[in-house]
Amino acid sequence: MAENTDVIVVGGGYAGVMAANRLTRRDGVTVTLINPRPAFVERIRLHQLVGGSDDALVDYQRVLAGGVGLVVDTVTRIDAAGRRVTLAGGGVLDYDYLIYAVGSGSADPGVPGAAEHAYPIATLEEAQRLRPVIDAAPASAALTVVGGGSTGIETASELAELGRKVTLVCGKVFGAYLHPRARRAVAGRLAKLGVTVLELDGRLDGVAALRIEDSHVTGIYYVRNPEKLSRLDAEISLTLR
Ligand SMILES: Cc1cc2nc3c(=O)[nH]c(=O)nc-3n(C[C@H](O)[C@H](O)[C@H](O)COP(=O)(O)OP(=O)(O)OC[C@H]3O[C@@H](n4cnc5c(N)ncnc54)[C@H](O)[C@@H]3O)c2cc1C
Repeated sequence: MAENTDVIVVGGGYAGVMAANRLTRRDGVTVTLINPRPAFVERIRLHQLVGGSDDALVDYQRVLAGGVGLVVDTVTRIDAAGRRVTLAGGGVLDYDYLIYAVGSGSADPGVPGAAEHAYPIATLEEAQRLRPVIDAAPASAALTVVGGGSTGIETASELAELGRKVTLVCGKVFGAYLHPRARRAVAGRLAKLGVTVLELDGRLDGVAALRIEDSHVTGIYYVRNPEKLSRLDAEISLTLR
């Protein structure tokens, strides 16, 4: 009789689900996916959760191949030598091969006030925390989105489409990951939506930082030395688009 191979996939995000599904195409492989939540989180829709147009959740039955066993739990320990994982719920599972696909979380912003007053949206729980805050904010409240990458741009657009007054604060370059032509098109769309884009002058080397107090941006800073924030003079180094 052919031997069976046990594969454990830790993390049921995009990477974990794809790996698990592909492995079921092979004979003699038992695939177990371990994830803390009973539903698949569509992280690419978390900004829509914030705006209220999607809940960013999909039933695992819709995305997991039939042969994948789902264990709803969190891996707290991997014993690589013993080829076993320990789960938060107290269980222990043995494996022949382990796929580690736990994704990422929010980076430490290193910005004064951000940890206490800003709302990161890298995870489902973070986005769910922000949603009622947006709902409770008056329609005229000024919302500042920090970060000129895809998440920041998509979040700013989502909120602006709801009729919110939005400012998008970028580091040096707005949409640095985009081709210049695409960047112009996105900037045009944001302008049509009424989003104010603040972009640091490209000649400066360093990062932009905000001081956030009670959810209000009270100053825009240029960080030359992360230990020491120096306030931008009258924001002359910022390009307003
Ligand atoms: C708002 C937003 C918009 C985005 N938009 C886009 C986009 O348009 N296009 C794009 O390409 N990318 C986008 N991204 C990035 C994209 O979501 C990530 O690149 C992608 O989610 C990474 O997939 P992953 O499977 O590695 O991790 P994840 O999707 O984060 O999945 C990891 C899983 O592992 C689980 N896990 C963590 N620790 C454990 C543990 N100890 N035990 C068990 N399970 C654990 C987590 O709960 C989670 O379910 C966006 C991200 C955000 C936040």
